[in-house]
Amino acid sequence: ETYKGSNFIRNIIIKDLEEGRNGGRVHTRFPPEPNGYLHIGHAKSICLNFGMAEEFGGKCNLRFDDTNPLKEDTEYVESIRRDVKWLGFDWEDREYFASDYFGRFYEYAVQLVRDGLAFVDDLTAEEIRQYRGTLTESGRESPYRNRSAEENLDLLERMKKGEFKDGEKVLRAKIDMSSPNINMRDPVIYRIAHAEHHNTGSDWCIYPMYDFAHGLEDSIEGITHSICTLEFEDHRPLYDWFLEKLGVYHPQQIEFARLNLTNTVMSKRKLLKLVQEKYVNGWDDPRMPTIAGLRRRGFTPESIRMFTDMIGVSKSNSIIEYSLLENCLRDDLNKRAHRRMAVIDPLKMVIVNYPEDTEELLEAENNPENEADGKRMIPFSRELYIEREDFMENPPKKYFRLFPGGEIRLKHAYYVTCVNVVKDSDGNVTEVHCTYDPASKGGWTEDGRKVRGTSHWVSAKHAVKCEVRMYDNLFTKENPDEAGDGQDFTANINPDSLRIAECWGEPALAEAKELTSFQFMRQGYFVADPDTSKEKPVFNRTVSLKDSWAK
Ligand code: ATP
Ligand code: MG
Ligand code: MG
Repeated sequence: ETYKGSNFIRNIIIKDLEEGRNGGRVHTRFPPEPNGYLHIGHAKSICLNFGMAEEFGGKCNLRFDDTNPLKEDTEYVESIRRDVKWLGFDWEDREYFASDYFGRFYEYAVQLVRDGLAFVDDLTAEEIRQYRGTLTESGRESPYRNRSAEENLDLLERMKKGEFKDGEKVLRAKIDMSSPNINMRDPVIYRIAHAEHHNTGSDWCIYPMYDFAHGLEDSIEGITHSICTLEFEDHRPLYDWFLEKLGVYHPQQIEFARLNLTNTVMSKRKLLKLVQEKYVNGWDDPRMPTIAGLRRRGFTPESIRMFTDMIGVSKSNSIIEYSLLENCLRDDLNKRAHRRMAVIDPLKMVIVNYPEDTEELLEAENNPENEADGKRMIPFSRELYIEREDFMENPPKKYFRLFPGGEIRLKHAYYVTCVNVVKDSDGNVTEVHCTYDPASKGGWTEDGRKVRGTSHWVSAKHAVKCEVRMYDNLFTKENPDEAGDGQDFTANINPDSLRIAECWGEPALAEAKELTSFQFMRQGYFVADPDTSKEKPVFNRTVSLKDSWAK
C-alpha cells in the first residue's frame, strides 16, 4: 500500500454525497485542448478526474475543448486518446467535442443578447484592452455598450454569416466595468476567426471564448464537479454568472494547484517550441515530460498513477522534485522489470582453465522480486566481457572488485581469480586472465568462503551489441524559466541531455519487444526503444539504480 497524499476534493465530494447534492451523482470530465500532447501535469488532472469518478461510482467524460481553430489538430486528438488509455482510464462512449456544441453555444449567446446581457462591440482588441482598466483603476464602458437588443441580434447574425473581417467586431457580456475582478469587466464571449476548424471545417467563422464555452460544456454534459487548476479561481464568478443568467444546470467549479516539477517545463506552448525548434526529436522524445515521452523513456502507467496519488491535491502551488517521480518508477520497475546483464564499457576476461571449444548455459532468475517471472539460460564461455570499472590493477584497501590475485563472483556463474593481466604498449590493461573454480557454479561454494564482489558479465562470442541512449535532465536549472536578460527557458537546455553509447548484452536482448523494460544489473533500468530491431537493439536508459549494487 503506497502513501496517499491528502486530497481536499475527495472531501468535498464526500460532503456533497452526504448532503444529497446532485442526486448522489458524481460526474467529472477531463477537458484537454487538442493543441499539443499531454504532459505529466495533465496526468495529475486525469488521475484526479477519472480517479474520483471511479472511487465514487461515478462517470468521467473525455472532452476535447476545441474552441480555438488556430492551434488545434487531429494529431493531438489521437495522441490524447492514446495517452489517457495508456494511463489506464476508460471514458467508454463519453467522448465529446466542445465544437459539437457550437450551435447550442450560439443559441445561448442569442439568449444573452435578447436579455440585454450581451452586446456587439466595434472596439479593436487594443482598445478593449485599454478600456478594461487595471487592478487599481476601474474600466470604462465601451461606447457601443448600449446598442439595442435588435441591433445586437442583427450584428451577431451578420458576424456569424461572415460579413465582417477578423477582429472587426466581438460579442461581449454586459457585466460590470468597475468590478474589482477584471474578468467581470464585460468579457469577450465571441470573436471572429475565418479559419478552418479541425472538426467543424468552415461551418463557423465566429468562435466562443473559453470562459463562455467551458461552463456551458460542463452544464450540457451534467458535470457535477468541474475540476480545474488554480489560475481559473478568478474566472469562477464569470463561470457562475453565465450559468445563472442563462438559467441552466449549474456544476460546481473547484480549483486545485497545478503540478510543477523541477528541471522541467510544463506548458504546451513551451513544449511545442522544443519540438518545432528541434531541441528534441518530437513530442515523444524520451526527455520530454509528455506522456508519450515518459512512455518512450520507460515510465509505466502504474508509476505515474502512484506518483499522482502520493503528491495529493491541494490549493497551494509548489514545485515537486523530479526525483520523487523517479522513485515511484524505481519502485514499480523493481517489481516488474526482468534482470539482464549488459556491459557498457567492456574489458575482456579470459578464463584460462576453461576449455576453449566449450560453452554452457547457466540458469538465471529473471527477477529476484518475483519468482513467477521464471528463469532464463545465459551462455558462458572462455572469453567474457566485464565492466572495465570492475577491475583495478592497483586497488585501494577494501576494494571488493577484481584485482590481481583477488577473487570475485561472476553473477549466476562462477568464482574467478585474477592470475594475470595483458597490457598494450601504453600500459593500458586490455585483458584480464582468470581461473575459475568449477565447484562454485551458481555463485556459491560448499566451503562457504567469503567472496564479496560480484560482477556482471557477458560471453564475448554470444553477446549482442546494442545502442544505449543515456538520458539526463533536459534542463540544467531547477527552474528552467530562470534565464538571463532577453533569454528564455531554452537558454537552460542541458547540452549533455543525451549521450549515445554501446553495450554488449545477453543474447536475449536482441529479442526485446519495444517498450519492454529491463533492469541492466548495476546499470539502471532500460527500455527497448521503438527504434529497436534484431539487427540493432536500441535501449533508452529510463533511470539509474538508486544504490550501487554491492551483494
Ligand atoms: P498548458 O498550460 O500546459 O497548455 P492547459 O491547462 O492549457 O495546459 P488543457 O489542455 O486546457 O491545458 O488542460 C486540460 C486539463 O489539464 C485542464 O483541466 C487543466 O487544468 C489540467 N492541467 C493542465 N496542466 C496541468 C498541470 N500542470 N497540473 C495539473 N493539471 C493540469
Ligand atoms: Mg486550458
Ligand atoms: Mg493552454
